[in-house]
Amino acid sequence: MKSVEQLVRKDVRQLEPYVCARDLCKQAEQFMDANENAFGTTVEFEDVPLNRYPDSDLLELKQTLAEYIGGIAENNVLVGNGSDEIIDLAIRTFAEKGDNVVCIVPGYSMFEVCAQISGVHVRRVLVEKDFQPNVEKVLAACDGRTKLIMLVTPNSPLGNIVEPARILDLLEKSGAIVFVDEAYGEFAGSSWARETANYGNLLVSKTLSKAWGLAALRVGYAVACPFIIESMRKIKPPYNVSAISNYLALRALGNRDRMELYVREMKEEKEVLEAELKKMGFEVFDTVTNFSVFRVPGQVSSKEVQRKIAGKGIIVRDRSPLPFLENCIRVTVGTRKENRRFLSALERAMTL
Ligand code: PMP
Repeated sequence: MKSVEQLVRKDVRQLEPYVCARDLCKQAEQFMDANENAFGTTVEFEDVPLNRYPDSDLLELKQTLAEYIGGIAENNVLVGNGSDEIIDLAIRTFAEKGDNVVCIVPGYSMFEVCAQISGVHVRRVLVEKDFQPNVEKVLAACDGRTKLIMLVTPNSPLGNIVEPARILDLLEKSGAIVFVDEAYGEFAGSSWARETANYGNLLVSKTLSKAWGLAALRVGYAVACPFIIESMRKIKPPYNVSAISNYLALRALGNRDRMELYVREMKEEKEVLEAELKKMGFEVFDTVTNFSVFRVPGQVSSKEVQRKIAGKGIIVRDRSPLPFLENCIRVTVGTRKENRRFLSALERAMTL
């Protein structure tokens, strides 16, 4: 079995990363190294020095995220421009042209997009009827050039939690990096992030875009052992997260109560929404996420329903091309008012 060190691309291992001159002295007061505008900014945002490049290390943000996760340190965290950047960095850190990643499907389509852009082969392993990955099949899909096994828990678009025992099996038996996307983790109330202390090949990706309500900021982060974090840091652009995102993310992380309140509120509204969907006769999937998935009865096409609802100015996602999701629609839980409007548009779409 390869060690985590051996899984990192050789050229990344040997790479001399870009060095920010500012790392020479973190207490410096006068910056004349990066050709910024010393005279001022053309717009202001609170007291963020917009004429200066942001801190490339984001030390305070990493410390705050580590405290939020608990039981890990700042050197277990890497912040990205959304977790989409974390996915891309992870693939490029480990896999090069000719290598492969094993994706558990249905899952997040960006795994495959990022792999393909890097010339990395994608091996898809379909979940079983209970929506759980079959560990034997996943392991059978791996070979000497498999760098990552990629999965989402709670799953999107299926909405279920991947059984912990299966992830443990993959961590222990695969010899690959197990990439666990927890974009919806806060809704399930569980996380693998602390387990990175026990498993060197575990890479967890999280985001502020969902439960934290900050999709516009573009802040995602990876949690892994320091070696993985350092390897990913080597290939990231030096200023990948803006100073405004950093500033607002730090403030937001101080409002954990508010995030938790939104999660509770969403769950209440989801119950109401799904009760209505069931009353209308739809098959509703069991999900622990901030979206509901339901199947449109066979005689009506989900694509057509999506189109009709869009005609009322409401966008939902037709998931019908995906396995296990034939004729299914995914709808993000909205406010009570939004859900009511959606339900009445849906009712019309089904009758007209
Ligand atoms: N993972 C999953 C499963 C997602 O659904 C999303 C959002 N579409 C992301 C990652 C990316 O989120 P972000 O880049 O906003 O952090």
